Order: sequence, then C-alpha cells, then structure tokens
Amino acid sequence: MTHNGLMRTVEEHRRAVADLIAPTAEVSLPVEDAVGHALAADLVAPRPLPAFDNSAMDGYAVRAADVGSATPETPVTLPVAADVPAGRTDGPALEPGTAHRIMTGAAMPRGADTIVQVEHTDAGTTTVRIDRPAAAGRHLRRAGEDVQTGETVLPAGGGLGPAQIALAAALGLPELTVGEPVRVLVLSTGSELVEPGTELLHGQIHESNGPMLVTAAREAGAHAVRRHFVADDEDTFLTVLDAVVDAGAADLILTSGGVSAGAFEVVKDALAARGVEFTRVAMQPGKPQGTGRYRGVPVVTLPGNPVSAMVSFEVFVRPAIRAAMGFADPGRPRLTARLAESLTSPADRAQFRRGVLDRVAGTVTTQGPPGSHHLRWMAASNCLLEIPVGVTEMAAGDPVVVWDLEA
Ligand code: AMP
Ligand code: MG
Repeated sequence: MTHNGLMRTVEEHRRAVADLIAPTAEVSLPVEDAVGHALAADLVAPRPLPAFDNSAMDGYAVRAADVGSATPETPVTLPVAADVPAGRTDGPALEPGTAHRIMTGAAMPRGADTIVQVEHTDAGTTTVRIDRPAAAGRHLRRAGEDVQTGETVLPAGGGLGPAQIALAAALGLPELTVGEPVRVLVLSTGSELVEPGTELLHGQIHESNGPMLVTAAREAGAHAVRRHFVADDEDTFLTVLDAVVDAGAADLILTSGGVSAGAFEVVKDALAARGVEFTRVAMQPGKPQGTGRYRGVPVVTLPGNPVSAMVSFEVFVRPAIRAAMGFADPGRPRLTARLAESLTSPADRAQFRRGVLDRVAGTVTTQGPPGSHHLRWMAASNCLLEIPVGVTEMAAGDPVVVWDLEA
C-alpha cells in the first residue's frame, strides 16, 4: 500500500497501534480457564496417548490363534476367565485357551493379542461362543498411537478451544501457561449520550459504542471494563482519565468519539498536547484516529461513528490486543470470495464494507451503504470486505478479500 502524502496507510497505523501494547506476562491457569487464551510455550506431551494398549470395543480379549477356526457353523467356545471393565488396574494375564470379557477402554490383558467384538459372540459370561475368527491386533488401540511422549502437540501462540483443552487434560495437565489478558478500559465521549434505559430528549442518543467495544475486547480475549461515558468537556474527560491512570488497572485506554475535524472534539482537544498523535488514516470508514500514551498508559482513540469504531477496532485494536496476549496469528482469518454485486470505492482510501459471506458458495454480499452510522447492517453482517487503495470499481463476480468475523 502506498503512502498518499497526507494520510497514513492502514498498515502504518496498524503497526503504530501494535507497537503501543506490550506483550503481557505469562500466567498458569486451570485448563478450563485457559480457553480463549494463547499458549505461552509449546505443549510437549509428558506421556503417551493412549497410555496403555486397550480395547476399542466391548467384547472378548483372546489369542488370535485360539479363534482362528471359528465360523458360524464351527464356533469356538472358550471359558471366560476374567472380567476387565474400563478402569480395572489389576487385570490378570490371559491364559491360552481362555477369554477375558473386556469393555471399551479397558487395558489389554498380557497374553491377549486381539479383541472379538461382542456382536460376533453369544455374549456369554462363564463361557463364550465365538463364531468369527479375529486377526491379531484387531480392535486394539496401541499405547502412543495418538501421541508419543515428547511430541509437541500444540504450538506456542496457538489459541485454546475445547479440543485443545481436552488434549491437555487427557495428557494429565491440570494447568496451562498462557499470555495474560490485556486490561482494556473503554471510555465513550459525547454530550449527546445517555444510558440505554433512559428516555431520550430530542438530540440525545443512547450510548452504544461502550457496550460494543467492551464486549468486542472481551471477545478478543481481553479483560475489558467500561467507564461511564463523559460529556464533551475537556476537564471532565481529563479528570476521568487521571482516575483511570491512577488506578493503574489499564494496559490500554480505548476511547471513542471526539477525534474528527469539527468543534468540541474533546478527545483531540484534551490529548493532542498530552502525548497522543492524531492522524488521518487512508481508510473508509475510520479516517480520524489517534494513538499515543497518556501519563505512560497506551491510548487508542477511535472515531465516534459506531461502524467506524467497530471497523477500527477490528482493523487496528483487535490484532494488537491478541498479539500482546501471545497469539501467533492475531488477525481474523482472511479469504477470497466472489462479489455478489458491483460496488464502488474511493480511490485514495481502503474501504471496509460490511457483508454476508456464504462460505459454501464462496460469495459475499455487501450489507447496507458505506456510511458509518448504519449499525443495523453491521449487525446483519458476518464479515468485512477489504477493498484496497486504488480500486474504485468492482464488478459482480470479482474476487475480493474478506475478513471472517465469525472465526
Ligand atoms: P464524534 O466522533 O464524536 O464526532 O461522533 C460521530 C458520530 O458518532 C456522532 O453521530 C455521534 O453521536 C456518534 N457517537 C459518538 N459516540 C457514540 C457512542 N458512544 N454511541 C453511539 N454513537 C456515538
Ligand atoms: Mg462526539
């Protein structure tokens, strides 16, 4: 992407935000609490999986040689010398010419080399009639066939979901070491804002950026809290900011509103001379942006229009938060889809449109106009379309890069 003189590129601003947030410390969490976090180090298997040879079927552990001649017409009958339910730790060895009744997951008796599934028997408990032969090794789960001791089973920087949690638990690990959540403080500005649940006077609106950004940050894995929004008054804004900084509980202060070119731009007015750089980024929506430090604490100032704030969060803040938490791949998955209809885009800016991605058809349909106040259309979307700088028109069927917001 090229620099167009006056505006920062998306990539330049993305790096500025990423550089602002330092990597978090590592913390050991009970495995279940580690879900949604990134592994701090490679997970190396301390033991094999399975830990011992065991049966993959309910049936009978036997020696293949003892049942080789079994057919429905000439069944083999063996005495059942032992019962081996799952969890039995003192199962005896199998004597030649006998069978052990065995359940799925139970340890294979020494001396047995195959399992006859119960469906191929009369399910007897004192003797068992077997009417099929079984080759050696049938229905056996071998020790280490899934995981061997010392293997790296999960990489550092990988995200932890239920399947990864299950693997760690199966390997006997009570805790996992992950990157600590970034602590995000969300603060909305605007004299027009009132809390949802309160009746509006003409000219007022319900505050929605705060709930949006605090939940977006939590969804990204951060520990996010919201301060009550403040009016467009510099002193009030700075008083709240000072309280936040004094409390020392924020790794990142995320504001919305008050950064564009109008009058009463409280965030800009208060912070321009106090460590925050205000810039214009070559993107639509989300042109006015700011980054810096207020009394040492990283600050990212997002524009107030709800769609601009959301897109800015996705493009700049979310990947920075996740990188700081140790995610090796902190961005949303991107893919290429075919446009369902034509669109236009400004030449000098990257455009991020909201859309619905049809993963099966590989097509994407834009949702709503480009305008940055169309919250309803953003709520109907599952992806962002990224139309690069320099592209002014795209036709139906053209390939377009899509950010998958649901993955
Ligand atoms: P600003 O960036 O402060 O000029 O705000 C741009 C637009 O976004 C205005 O229409 C604001 O009313 C709206 N807006 C700003 N902050 C919020 C918020 N917290 N919730 C909902 N809308 C907002
Ligand atoms: Mg405002």
